[in-house]
Amino acid sequence: MTQLLEGKTGLIMGVANKRSIAWGITNAASKAGARLILTYQSERLGENVQELGAALNNPLLIQCDVASDEQIQACMKRIQEEVGHLDFLVHALAYAPREALEGTYAATKRADFSLALDISAYSLVAVSQAALPLMKDRQSAIVTLTYLGSERVVHNYNVMGVAKAALESSVRYLANDLGPHGIRVNAISAGPIKTLASSAIGGISGMVKLHAERAPLRKAVDLDEIGDAALFLMSPLSRGITGEVIFVDGGYHILGV
Ligand code: NAD
Repeated sequence: MTQLLEGKTGLIMGVANKRSIAWGITNAASKAGARLILTYQSERLGENVQELGAALNNPLLIQCDVASDEQIQACMKRIQEEVGHLDFLVHALAYAPREALEGTYAATKRADFSLALDISAYSLVAVSQAALPLMKDRQSAIVTLTYLGSERVVHNYNVMGVAKAALESSVRYLANDLGPHGIRVNAISAGPIKTLASSAIGGISGMVKLHAERAPLRKAVDLDEIGDAALFLMSPLSRGITGEVIFVDGGYHILGV
């Protein structure tokens, strides 16, 4: 049987370690036959990514801090030179200073707000823009990661909830702008999982436990579930879907009080 991503090449941004959602998506895409390019934020995280990448078939590993337009451009240039195109791009990264992820949202500082929105929301626009020449006219797909805190008040999620609201809105605007170029843009809204980034959110372990107790599927979300949903969104099986936020949260978001 032909694999869903056979002959396709994709860029996955946001692997920090083996617990990263980006790594769950990398595994799903790799098993489906894709060739993968992974970016990592810093040299320190690059060591983890080198180690993990050894399990992949001919990966290309590139450092790219999305705070820097120069690094984003250099990353796309390298992909242009070494591969020439991209069939999918996964944006699985976000950042807010730890002190902004506890206490009240009303106390958010201007600098923390700007930084959270820049890295967690604007970066999707920046990488989509830079990847456009590599992705256009190939029925390609962009997938990003969001969370329910964009539309509901979640204790301690604070400025990240506002950044995710901007990210989800960006998904819709980008879907409309890039659709004529044959590029689809969607988001996965994942239930809580303990990762490097989420451990900065006060009370994340309690959130995971509550989710497992209350979600209609009565379990915590795992990396494979998110990886498989991303595989659907990266593959031609979802060719009629763009501008959507798809929940992979065991149904948690449908609950009332
Ligand atoms: P993670 O810590 O494994 O991944 C976050 C990644 O963001 C890291 O690789 C980090 O290096 C990267 N990053 C941060 N700032 C960056 C920058 N300036 N340049 C480049 N990369 C940068 O955590 P994760 O939970 O796998 O997060 C992945 C995505 O999933 C994030 O968008 C997060 O908000 C989202 N998400 C996570 C959860 C959860 O519960 N873990 C739930 C829903 C959505």
